[in-house]
Amino acid sequence: MNDQFGRNITYLRLSLTERCTLRCAYCRAGEGVCPKKSELTRGDFLRIVRAFASLGVDKVRLTGGEPMLRRDLLEIIRDIRAVEGIREIVMTTNGQHLPGMSRALKEAGLDRLNISLDSLRPERYAEITGGGSLERVLTGIEETLAEGFSPVKLNVVLLRGQNDDEVGDFIELTKHRPVYVRFIEYMPLGETDRADLRVTGGELLRRFPALEAVPPIYAGQPSRDYRMPGYVGRVGLIDPVSHRFCADCNRVRVMSDGMLRPCLGSNEEFSLKLALKSGDDEALTQVILRAIRLKPETHCFSEGFAAEKNMSHIGG
Ligand code: SAM
Repeated sequence: MNDQFGRNITYLRLSLTERCTLRCAYCRAGEGVCPKKSELTRGDFLRIVRAFASLGVDKVRLTGGEPMLRRDLLEIIRDIRAVEGIREIVMTTNGQHLPGMSRALKEAGLDRLNISLDSLRPERYAEITGGGSLERVLTGIEETLAEGFSPVKLNVVLLRGQNDDEVGDFIELTKHRPVYVRFIEYMPLGETDRADLRVTGGELLRRFPALEAVPPIYAGQPSRDYRMPGYVGRVGLIDPVSHRFCADCNRVRVMSDGMLRPCLGSNEEFSLKLALKSGDDEALTQVILRAIRLKPETHCFSEGFAAEKNMSHIGG
């Protein structure tokens, strides 16, 4: 299904919950989150995915909040796996609940994992995340690699003066392991844009001139990819603010309360709630079609954008 700018929308990011285990300072999960009872049900998610699949969406990312807090996560994955047309199911997680779960996730039908990891130093990790355990994430990463998930992507949001001195350590993780470390530019999604925290991809390339550009894994991916000569894994730079990639954007987001957001960097939303409540799948498809048609041409991050919601609300 094409939007009005000719972009083919094939990718749905589905937030399963706004609840999160962590309280990352730049994300602020937990502030004003919707109560559990207003979360969509497993049945709602299935209807939404079916409607999107009928319009040509073939990839679904489960996110949140923290998607692994959903007790019915494995059932939701199995449901989506059975939807005709869905080719790929991936999940973004903070890794706190991963230990012991990799096999079950694989068996349920999950294809890949992105794991957020903002520091390799236990105390700093706990500080940035508001109490998270680095050991649990690292154990989870090892288990997912052992289970054969590939590639395992590690998302690092770089924050100037807080973790940008660890870029070299993160790159070293790619030396012997097939991990794909992606440095993400801080986006203005809190109440205020802390532009002073932002570390751009251009700056990283100047600091690490040995990084060699490699072809993307798939066309239109948000990251520009690099590799240290001789290293097994790869390094990705995702810098939506300093390096827009809106022309290739193929995604929309549905939040755990049933609101559809066509663009992360625009506050405009469309409600699926009425259509879900009425049980009318045709009405559901019509709202989705309208939202896709009206997807903004570009995000507004650099135009003094005032985000009404943070990433844990919208679904990262
Ligand atoms: N709880 C899961 C996790 O931590 O991966 C999934 C949701 S989280 C909101 C998804 C991703 O969004 C994480 O990698 C997080 O670091 C990133 N994120 C949150 N706020 C951000 C911001 N203001 N700028 C850039 N990335 C952000």
